[in-house]
Parts: sequence; C-alpha cells; structure tokens
Amino acid sequence: MDPVEDTLRRLREAFNAGRTRPAEFRVEQLKGLSRFLQDNRQLLQDALAQDLHKSAFESEVSEIVISQGEVDLALRNLQAWMKDESVSKNLATQLDSAFIRKEPYGLVLIIAPWNYPVNLMLVPLVGAIAAGNCVVLKPSEISKNTEKVLVEVLPRYLDQSCFAVVPGGPQETGKLLEHKFDYIFFTGSPHVGKIVMTAAAKHLTPVTLELGGKNPCYVDDNCDPQTVANRVAFFRYFNTGQTCVAPDYILCSPEMQERLLPALQSAITRFYGDDPQSSPNLGRIINQKHFKRLQGLLGCGRVAIGGQSDESDRYIAPTVLVDVQETEPVMQEEIFGPILPLVTVRSLDEAIDFINRREKPLALYAFSNCSQVVREVLARTSSGGFCGNDGFMHMTLASLPFGGVGASGIGRYHGKFSFDTFSHQRACLLRSPGMEKINDIRYPPYSPRNLRL
Ligand code: NAD
Repeated sequence: MDPVEDTLRRLREAFNAGRTRPAEFRVEQLKGLSRFLQDNRQLLQDALAQDLHKSAFESEVSEIVISQGEVDLALRNLQAWMKDESVSKNLATQLDSAFIRKEPYGLVLIIAPWNYPVNLMLVPLVGAIAAGNCVVLKPSEISKNTEKVLVEVLPRYLDQSCFAVVPGGPQETGKLLEHKFDYIFFTGSPHVGKIVMTAAAKHLTPVTLELGGKNPCYVDDNCDPQTVANRVAFFRYFNTGQTCVAPDYILCSPEMQERLLPALQSAITRFYGDDPQSSPNLGRIINQKHFKRLQGLLGCGRVAIGGQSDESDRYIAPTVLVDVQETEPVMQEEIFGPILPLVTVRSLDEAIDFINRREKPLALYAFSNCSQVVREVLARTSSGGFCGNDGFMHMTLASLPFGGVGASGIGRYHGKFSFDTFSHQRACLLRSPGMEKINDIRYPPYSPRNLRL
C-alpha cells in the first residue's frame, strides 16, 4: 500500500476508535506541542535563520511566542470550549434537553506556506487538537530547513497514531488532496487556494482558506509623518515584507508623500543602518524565483528609497517606490517583499474608491489623528481585518478572529475561533420517552384540532 494511504487509514482508524475525543488526550497532545516548542527553540530559530535569515527576535515573537500563546490559551480554556452549549426552547420542548455539541470533524488536513512556517502550521494545529481531530500536517517544502524539523522532530512529541507530518511540494500535495478529508485548512496563495477548494469540492469537504492579496494603507494629511513612517516601515519590512498582512501600498496626498519620504528614509536607516545588507535584523528573500519576481517589481514607477539588490545573497533593499501606475505589476500583484509603493490620491473619497475598486483585502490600515476619518474608512470599506493607526497589531489579539473575506479567504481562526473552526456544531435535542399524551395533537388524521399546535 502507498505509505500516505497507509498513514491516512491508520489515522482514520484511530479517530473512529474515539482516541482523540477525551479531554485528557487533547490536553496531553497540547502539552506535547508545548514541550516541542520549549525543547527545540534553538533548533527552530536556526532553521528559520537558514530559510529566511530571520533574526532571533522575529522568530521568537512571530513564530514561537505566538504558537506557545495559543497552546497555553487552549489548555486554560479547553474544558469551557468543549462544554455543551444550552439553547433556548419552545413550548413543545420545554421538558427536553436542547444543546449544541462541539464535535470533532474527524481527519483534518492542514497545509502551510513558507513565510511563517512554524506559526502557520502550529497555530491551526492547536485548534484541530483542541477540537479532538486527527491531523495530517503538510508544511511548505520551500522553507526546507524548517520543514525538516517539523517532519523529523515534531512527531516525537505527538501521538503518532493520530498525527502525521507529510512532506512534499505541489505534486505530493496534489496526491494528498485526492483523498477524502473531513476538513481542510489551507494557508497560501489565492491561486493554490482555488486548487485546494476544487479538490475539496469533489468530496464535499469544508475548507478554511487563509489567502493573501494587497493590503491598502491610507495616510491622512493630519498625521505626524515620522510616527506613520516608523509604524508602516516596521510592518512592511518585518520578515523582509514576506507577510500576508503587511501594508502593501500607501495611499496619501502628494503633500503627505513629500513629508513621508524623508521620514521613511529615517525609519529605514534607524532600523537597518546605512547598509541594510549587513544588518542582522533584515531577512532575505526565500528563494531565487521570488527574488527574480521582486527584482522585476523594482522597475515599476521610480525608486525613491533603496532599490538595490544582490542576487548572490537574495538581498533586496528596503525600497520605496513613487509615481507607480495602477496598471504596473507592482500595483496588480501581491508584493510579498520589502517594496512599498506610494500612490497619491486627492481626497479620502478617492482613496476609498481606489480600495473598493479592488478585491477585498486581508487587512486594511488607516492612519489619521482624527478618529472620525479612521472610522469612516472602516465604515465604507471591507477587509478581513482592520487596524487604525498601526500595522498588523490586530492579529496579535487571540480574542479577534483572523481570516479573509472575498478573494482574501474563507473562514477564521486564532484562540477560540480556531476551536470553533475545527468543530462541527451538532444540534442536539434529547426528548423524554414519556408524556406521549402531549404529542397526540401533532398526529394525523389531521383535523382543526391539529391547528391548535
Ligand atoms: P502557495 O500557495 O504557493 O503554497 C502554500 C502551500 O500549498 C505549500 O504547502 C505548497 O506546498 C502547497 N502547494 C503549492 N502549489 C500547490 C499545488 N499546485 N497543488 C497543491 N498544493 C500546492 O503559497 P506560499 O508561496 O507558500 O505562501 C505565500 C502566499 O501565502 C501569499 O499569497 C500570502 O499572502 C499567503 N499567506 C496567507 C496567510 C494568511 O494567513 N492569510 C499567511 C501567510 C501567507
């Protein structure tokens, strides 16, 4: 038998035997995940440094601490999350028990991308374990050093009859997707998201799709340019811009653009020094293919800051572009790198119209000293998430759902939302076998008497 088929059969048998259902089992696995993160902190940091030149700080805050926080939250709340939820009743069911049971789906597939390869694999896994599922994990083959740790080390911390890590690229994932899963959780590009959803449709498997896109960032004239520049540059160049929720482009007036440019230059120099290539705090582009793609984007508009690149090092300087045309590739595709175009607009209305003419983004940012302006952008647009006066801070709150809308995705997770995503909400009514007299009124032969029901 094909080894993947064998793994899936084994996991399904374990699920059908009820192995993952008890709360104690789920707690054990979550504790295993916690030990994996603690024991292998350095190993993970080294792998992330090899794959993405990620600094220890960025690995710590955006991969390890976030994953650990989700495990801790699930451990603290598991009993409460698992509890049946009582619901209100009507007259006919007054004596019965009506509740929602949070039931695991069964065998779940989680597919992750390469940009936050630990976080985007383990955070969904926490929800899937907490909800009582068996799980197949498919890390990205592109962040290959991290993939190796996830394939070789992670399974030692989990019950291998219920959890498996399957390595591979598009071809292997395509094969995996031919099998029937009970839920598929995918994080990656909209293009592959469609492939996943098409494969899932063949089995009527429900999906969560966490996708990407272009996240607009509106900057009002009344802002302090240096504050905006610090915040935008930090979130644009974090992980070398390879972040699904990074501000993708700025919309501002020509006057604000003139004030922002020196402020952005000052923020970049402050963060990465005069020679960002030698900074330990700036990462590298994941591979040659993405490097070439980004190098091509440097030719759009006019380079106002940065613009240098070094193929041998997969280095692209933190860059700001101006005078870009809407029709140029940098304004057509998700940038996913350290390049920030500034697009000028004459008014707030024009900015909102620019945003609404495009696909709904994963995140939207608005900077203004006037809270009315921020609220107006919020009220007149749509996006997966929104943050006023900062970058992707909204996604650091596990109390907020994280996910896209429209082209940026389907579904949500983080914290309790993850548990709910991986749980089927089963509608349950337990009736009494007695009191049959009361039911007489509903039975045929019908007569005006039935209408009293
Ligand atoms: P990708 O879609 O190329 O790959 C994601 C996963 O799908 C990988 O595990 C890969 O092996 C697999 N895959 C690739 N091609 C496939 C195919 N033809 N058939 C089946 N499986 C295939 O995405 P990526 O390049 O790894 O990541 C970048 C994208 O992910 C960006 O668009 C980014 O915005 C998005 N992203 C979204 C989020 C989010 O939370 N919404 C987070 C991170 C990244």
